Amino acid sequence: MLCSDHTLAVEMYRRVRCSKGYKIANRPCRYCREPTESEVHSLFLCEGFADLKNRRDSFFSRVSEISPHLTAPRITQDPIQSIHLFLDHRDLAPTFAKFVFDVVIMFPGPERRRGSKK
Ligand SMILES: [Zn+2]
Repeated sequence: MLCSDHTLAVEMYRRVRCSKGYKIANRPCRYCREPTESEVHSLFLCEGFADLKNRRDSFFSRVSEISPHLTAPRITQDPIQSIHLFLDHRDLAPTFAKFVFDVVIMFPGPERRRGSKK
């Protein structure tokens, strides 16, 4: 995710050839139709389906166990600052990495072509 090598619409639409291009506000979330399926949206804001919300709630609970001042409202109020806090914290960084992995696989990309089978 740090290298933008993921299958969220914010990146996938960047790679689509279109004469007008796809503006960032025209890369909708596949689950809730918000205008931009971004990293922050998928990780912290999307209410599109229960598995995602459950995984996020589990992550927020674990974060609050490790660092009680980091509550769900505080995290969602400033997600970018929260990401920096997660990555700077010895115990939160691996917890956040697993959460990111779990969320990204909930937003699969198109099947990759592997050449013709002969
Ligand atoms: Zn969404």
